[in-house]
Order: sequence, then C-alpha cells, then structure tokens
Amino acid sequence: MEHQTTTDEEIQSSTTNKPKKSKAKEIKTPFRLKRYYVFALITIFTLVLPFITISGNQIFLLSFDHQQLHLMGTVFDMQELYMMPFLLMLLFLGIFAATALGGRVFCGWGCPQTIFRVIYRDYIETKLLGMRKRISNKQKEPDYKKHAVKRMIAIGIWTLLSFIAAANFIWFFIPPADFFTYIQHPMEHTVMMGMLLGIVAFLVYDVIFLKEDWCIYICPYSRVQSVLYDENTLQAIYNPGRGGKIYDENKEKQVFKQKDLPEESNECTTCEKCVTVCPTHIDIRKGTQLECINCLECVDACTTVMGKLGKESLVQWSSNSEILEGKKTKFLRPITYMYAGVLTIVMIAMIMMGGTKEYMILDINKGQRLYKIEGKTVSNDYLMLFKNTEPKTHTYKLKVVGKYAGKIQIKRFKEATIKAGKESKEVLILSTTENLSTQKSADSILLVKLRAYSTSEPERVFVNKELSFVYPSTERVK
Ligand code: SF4
Ligand code: SF4
Repeated sequence: MEHQTTTDEEIQSSTTNKPKKSKAKEIKTPFRLKRYYVFALITIFTLVLPFITISGNQIFLLSFDHQQLHLMGTVFDMQELYMMPFLLMLLFLGIFAATALGGRVFCGWGCPQTIFRVIYRDYIETKLLGMRKRISNKQKEPDYKKHAVKRMIAIGIWTLLSFIAAANFIWFFIPPADFFTYIQHPMEHTVMMGMLLGIVAFLVYDVIFLKEDWCIYICPYSRVQSVLYDENTLQAIYNPGRGGKIYDENKEKQVFKQKDLPEESNECTTCEKCVTVCPTHIDIRKGTQLECINCLECVDACTTVMGKLGKESLVQWSSNSEILEGKKTKFLRPITYMYAGVLTIVMIAMIMMGGTKEYMILDINKGQRLYKIEGKTVSNDYLMLFKNTEPKTHTYKLKVVGKYAGKIQIKRFKEATIKAGKESKEVLILSTTENLSTQKSADSILLVKLRAYSTSEPERVFVNKELSFVYPSTERVK
C-alpha cells in the first residue's frame, strides 16, 4: 500500500490547537547516520579480516581444501574440530542474548541483507541515480519503465559489488592467496567458480528482486525472535498514550486524520512519516510486529516531525515497560545474568580446549604380531602416522619417558622430516632386553609412555602417547 506523506507546513498547521512544549528539543544524531557508521565499520572489518594473518594463519578460516580451521592464528586440523561446536554456541547464544536485550538489533545494525539493501536502495537507486525521490519514502517504488536505463546501470553496479561480497565470503573458506591463483584458472577450479557465481546470482536476486520479503517471509531468525522478547527488550515502540490509539483491538486502522484521534491531547500528527520510511512496510503505531527489523528509521522520522513542534518523538527506541507502564527499562535482569553466565562458561571452555591444542598429530597402531623374541630381546612393532599441522617443515623424534625410560628402547625409527601440512607413515619398533614379565604363564601388557617432539621446538610442538607393549610370560622368555 502506498502512503501519502504530509508536508512540514501541514504538520505545523495541524498542530496549532495543540498545547506545545516550551522549547524545540534538539534533534539528536539520527539513528540512520549512526547505522551508516556501523555498516562502514562492519564492511571494512569483514573485507580486511581474511588478509590479517598471525604466523601465516588467518584469524578465521574453515578450509576444506587444506582440511584446517584457523582460529585467531592457530591452526586446528579437521580431526581437532572440537572448537567448532564452541564457536557455533557462542554465535547463537550471542545472537539470542542481543535479541533478548536489544530486539532485532542484529537485523537493523549488522545483518548483511540490511546493509546490502541500504547500499542498493538508498545509495544506488536514490542518491546516485535519482530513481527514488527520497530515502524517507521507501514505500513508493521507482517508475522502472521510465528509468529503464538507470535500472540497468543499478543492476550492473550491484552485480559488480556482489562479486566483491561473494569473493569476501569465499575468503573465509579459501585463503585469498589461493583464491586469486585459482581464479586465473577457472576451468581447473570449477567448484570455487560455481560457488562464486552462485552467490553472485543469489545476491542479485535477493537484493534487487526479493528485497525485504527475505526478512519478512524467509529469514528463520524473524520466526524465533519474538519468543526471546520480554517487557524490557529494546525495540521501536509507538507511545499510544501520548500519540493516541490509531488502531483498535483487532489491529484495524481507525484514524486517518488528526481530528479523529480519541483524545484532544493526543499528539500524533497522522503525517505517516514513520510509515512511509519503513523498509518492511509496516505501521509501527499498530504495536510490536514480526516484520520490524529494528532499523529505527521510524524513530528518526518521528523525532524530526515532533522535534519541529518542540516535542519528543512518539516512536522511541525503548521498552514496553518504559513506554507502556512508565517503569525504567531494566538492563540487568535475570535473563541478562543467565546469558552472561552461559557465554562466560562457553568462552572459558573454548579457551581451555584451545590451550590443550597439540601442534602435531600422531596416531600409533600396534602391528599384527604380538611380540618377537630373539634370545633375551623382546620387541613390539607399530605403525605410526605423523601429521605436520604447522605452516613450516618439522623434524620429529621420539623418546620413551616415564616408568620404562631406559628399560625399553627405540630399536627402529630415528626421525621423520615432514613438510607443512603433510603426513608420513613410519614404522616403530620398541625392544627390551630386561625381564619385564609380571606373570608366570600369561603375557603381560605394559603401558609405555612415549613423547614425540619437533627437534626445533620441543617444548611447543610435541605430543605424549601411551602404547601397549606386550611382554611374554616368564616361561616363554626362558
Ligand atoms: S507517530 Fe510521529 S511520524 Fe508517525 S504519524 Fe504520528 S507524528 Fe507522524
Ligand atoms: S517499524 Fe519499520 S522503520 Fe520502524 S524500526 Fe521497525 S522496520 Fe524500522
């Protein structure tokens, strides 16, 4: 539905018989401007992040190609993906906590969909090409027949930007250096090219044709957010006590003109500026609605309208508790403590798990033969798989530690030099000439502690293993 906007003069004249407040309130920096700053920061951060490396590793990279997860410069092998559940828990709990406290604050201030729509609708279509008259009227779609050439230009510009956005997304899965190499040989990297073109096609369809229907009908987050709200959740709220009830109990619109407002003292000018500016095409005066993405454009619009009349905005970024019940918004409440507690526990667990990370991988399997007896020497053989998860070459050695150090020797295996990210299979034979039998007529299983380490960084790159060494019965050794 298209809404008519009332001019500033009409607003002024329509309120001449209303009691005015003493002085015009200073109109604060609009939320729109603040959101633009946040959008710019998020965009720069997201574009730059894949290029920041610590010891050659990205801050975040989930590489299926190299089978690695990079997190804050630390590399985790695919076999060590125990960090992923923690990351996902942090992500979801963080969004839930932000929703309980600030409503759909993520949608209005950080969601890529919102940022992309602002770039396309408000910047490209409105400011750059003049296809739309004003940012403040998002209900009136441009006359695309009249602006056919401009529309093609707008689609062209957005398609180019979509390539950058799609590449940026892929850099969190394929390191930028590899990406730029692969893109020069597209036929050899069809999966990556398919991903790139698929994301671009989606972004063009989503931003130009699907628009806010994504937020209203498709995004799963909009379905769950309302259950996370309570009376202290911050959101865009119209004050019906001051402005007047525009809708009846059945949410049917009752008032079209200011003179029809229920009370003489009601302040809404019925200018509908808060309605025409809304990107999801809702009337916030109806109350909290699923479609509201908390962009606060309606708050800005009413702040401007009411500011000219020396009054506070009728639509505020506040809570139901404050606007409808006149109580102060409680930021520190049980749900805040609960989320803070759970997030802290997950973070501590993640840091502890990260701290126990091993910088090499070693799997050791016992050979098929139980043991070999040659005179007084008893030996066991094993098959080892070394994996170098570091970005540089390491030479690994082994030593027996603990109870059997000096009693059991490494008979076969000297060292293994393995390049970054590579693995190597090696044979290990442990032997002893001492009588370690603990049973007269049955084999004994001895738990031998082994330490594998890098010769260049033995204190950092190491792994401890416990092996079963089978020793024959005293009768058999004789
Ligand atoms: S709430 Fe404010 S912006 Fe919306 S119609 Fe009333 S006066 Fe106009
Ligand atoms: S009602 Fe519309 S304009 Fe207001 S915050 Fe919600 S989505 Fe934005």
